[in-house]
Order: sequence, then structure tokens, then C-alpha cells
Amino acid sequence: MVLRRETKQKRVILEEIEKSTNHPTARDIYNSVRQQLPRISLGTVYRNMDLLVREGKIKRLDSGGREAHFDADLSEHHHVTCVSCGRIDDLATSQELKVISETFEQKGWVIHERRVEFLGVCPVCRTGGAGGR
Ligand SMILES: [Zn+2]
Ligand SMILES: [Zn+2]
Repeated sequence: MVLRRETKQKRVILEEIEKSTNHPTARDIYNSVRQQLPRISLGTVYRNMDLLVREGKIKRLDSGGREAHFDADLSEHHHVTCVSCGRIDDLATSQELKVISETFEQKGWVIHERRVEFLGVCPVCRTGGAGGR
């Protein structure tokens, strides 16, 4: 029975990550999963998200010391991270990047993953948020 409950928790967590488009943290997922599973703990959410990462169902995005964000979109794409609020937006992959990795392959490298990360300040933070400046 314990096993069945754990499977359900993991399924609900995965569904929440897949539904969200804003690269949630474990804490974000915990807050939305709690509406369906009121007794779930933050530790359980962390543990299940680790499992999902290891199973290759979601990706963990390392955001330089901040709380890790997660992504259910496994297609090749890149991210731009706001250094002020931590918001992460998606960037499509580019033809140029494929050309760059081909030049590495010509030098004998085997490329597993192409990853480009942009850091900046998002439009909301740039304009001082809702309060204005
Ligand atoms: Zn921002
Ligand atoms: Zn993404």
C-alpha cells in the first residue's frame, strides 16, 4: 500500500511540473501539489523530484547557488535567467549552435548536450516591478 501511495505522489508531482511553464522550484511544486495531497511534506516532494530527474523525466536547472529550478521540457532549448528575481525564460536552440558542436566533433569530441545560459535582468525587474520607480 505504501508503494501505491508513493507512486501516486510521484505522478501528481510530475503532472504539476508538466503543467507549469515557468521552471518551478521544488517549493513551487510543493505548494501546488498540496492542494491535491494535503499531507505531503516538502521532503517528499524533493525526494520525488530527485527520482524524476534520475529517471530522465524532468531536468534540474542549476541556477548558480539559488534554489534549483526544474523543467519538464526535455527538448533541446536554452535559458535566460533574471539575476534579480530568478525568473527563467526559454530560448529556442539555434542553427549556429549545431555548427559549433560540429566543429568540436571534427576535433574528435563526442558532444552529449548543448547548453547555453544567458544571465540578465527581466523586463519586470528592469522597469522596477509593479510599483514603478
Ligand atoms: Zn526579474
Ligand atoms: Zn526550459
